[in-house]
Amino acid sequence: MHCPKCGSIIKDKAESCKFCKTTITAADREKELSLRPTPRPKELKEIKNTCQGCGHTWFYDRSDQLKNFGEKMDVVSDDLVKTSCCCLFFPLGFLTFLIPKKKVIDLNRCPKCGSKAIKKETVTHNI
Ligand SMILES: [Zn+2]
Ligand SMILES: [Zn+2]
Repeated sequence: MHCPKCGSIIKDKAESCKFCKTTITAADREKELSLRPTPRPKELKEIKNTCQGCGHTWFYDRSDQLKNFGEKMDVVSDDLVKTSCCCLFFPLGFLTFLIPKKKVIDLNRCPKCGSKAIKKETVTHNI
């Protein structure tokens, strides 16, 4: 904290200023603390999805989004590797049967009915 008289930085629990010897009272300490920015409450942001087809609601948070994105990237790179080593031997149309489809959760689809008509809202929870 700061000394109320000379403004020097002193220990939070100091009883007097070591520079100007002013006695630090509890009121001084409270005043100083009240001036400090209060830490903001932790927030958790989630995406709330509501299916317009069947009314199903579900949530995902940003980590799901990122994870899903990462998995999608994996699929792309796998495909590229397979395409580059197989296309010498097979016609391109064949490849779609050969490439195993990795299961990627489609965050833009209802997990219940598969509808793409989804309403998205961001919900903020205070922890
Ligand atoms: Zn002082
Ligand atoms: Zn649905």
